[in-house]
Amino acid sequence: MRIGIAGIIHESNTFASNPTTLADFRVDRGQAVIEHYTPTFHEVGGYIAGADEYDFEMHPMLAAGATPAGTVTSEAFETLVGELLDDIKKAPALDGILLALHGAMVAEGFPQADGEILRRVRALVGPDFPVVVTHDYHGNVPEQLVKDATALIIYKTTPHIDQRERGLQAAELITRVIRGEVKPTSAIVKPDLLFNIVFHNTSKGPMQPLMQAAIDLEKQPGILACSIAAGYQYADVPAMGPSIVVVTDNDPALAQREAERLGAMMWAARDQLIPQIADPATAVRQAMAATQTPVALFEFGDNVGGGSAGDATIILKELIEQNAEGWVVTIFDPESADICNKAGIGAEVSLRVGGKLDKMHGPTLSIKGRVRTLHDGRYMETERRHGGERYHNQGLTAVVEVPKRPDGAGGLLILNSRRSYPNSIHQITCVGIQPQQQQILVAKGAVAPRAAYEPVSAQIIEVDTAGATSISRSPDDFHLARKDLYEWSRVKE
Ligand SMILES: [Zn+2]
Repeated sequence: MRIGIAGIIHESNTFASNPTTLADFRVDRGQAVIEHYTPTFHEVGGYIAGADEYDFEMHPMLAAGATPAGTVTSEAFETLVGELLDDIKKAPALDGILLALHGAMVAEGFPQADGEILRRVRALVGPDFPVVVTHDYHGNVPEQLVKDATALIIYKTTPHIDQRERGLQAAELITRVIRGEVKPTSAIVKPDLLFNIVFHNTSKGPMQPLMQAAIDLEKQPGILACSIAAGYQYADVPAMGPSIVVVTDNDPALAQREAERLGAMMWAARDQLIPQIADPATAVRQAMAATQTPVALFEFGDNVGGGSAGDATIILKELIEQNAEGWVVTIFDPESADICNKAGIGAEVSLRVGGKLDKMHGPTLSIKGRVRTLHDGRYMETERRHGGERYHNQGLTAVVEVPKRPDGAGGLLILNSRRSYPNSIHQITCVGIQPQQQQILVAKGAVAPRAAYEPVSAQIIEVDTAGATSISRSPDDFHLARKDLYEWSRVKE
């Protein structure tokens, strides 16, 4: 039995100013896919582990992924999908394909880009060829994709720490399909909800009991998989919003019935899904008053892993204005990192920091400070963290000590040169910062950084800030999404 392995993965924020180009993608091909993903907790690592576990020969094709950002350019999309289709054509006889797609990729001309990739693959391989697809929990799943996939399996955790298990589950399912043991039939239900990212944590309500119901259902006879995608509110696409996908063994009526049952459960939780989190001034005040430290402030509007700029200064400005002490803020600012590098360790520098990508993420701030450390930005994460990756690179990174006015130790500004999400605590420990010795840690993310920050923080405060990943965007900003989503009708009241 020979199974093709491939992935094209991107979460595209249609409100972000920075498009995602071909150069932004890391692309591994053939044997390099095996080498890169084997030691990870990524779903492709799960596919690879499945080859031994379920006894098949792997045919690795390409695995492409880029940091979440704006819409994928047509050039990048056509190049990557073209390569995938060529690989399938050139491959030795395959019995099936395991395909990792994010579920919230948007390409120029294709708002539901994952659906378009699968449509093209399906057109090439024919209607009965096994193609099992995996998705991120943040996928906006269209009905057609569920029809085109032999089966769809979605992560069950946020922070995403079960990616490898979902890859393994997909590998097991496809081998059973190829052996003729099961015949997957699927149903999808999409409740009319926004399901704000504020509520995506799978370890607590309202999502936790829903996910538990999905996990319980998956153990029932006749059920091959049961998934819930919370959706991704930063892509204005027709299928934006949550999805429930049930895969049964040759029983479409059961799939439909169970998907509707879980959909009704989710709908019943709709009044728990209206977000209310602290504004920046309040959050900083609360953090400064905390008796147990460090306090982590999660900057929702500049959620790098959700495609935001990474250079928002909104919380930083508030920390400086309120004279906060012992803070750590990471800002994507290659220009300032370069100035620090040229000045050298110990040098006093005057910088214009952040707010450079666009006007959504706060003003560029004038900062004076002293260069404390410089680092090449590479670090490794060996624990299970959101995204499952092991090797990280935030580019040339400088730590600048910023004094509190009029003098004295204020905080530490980490200036990096590649947009990188705070899903690993080593993003800050690698540059010499001990989180437990700080008072306030600012993480530019929503739920994903919890796996990294919960172990080192006394408290996490969620902060409602402006930006490409603002949680309170006006429904008028959306043109392709369904208009009747519950949170919007509630907010308008
Ligand atoms: Zn995700």
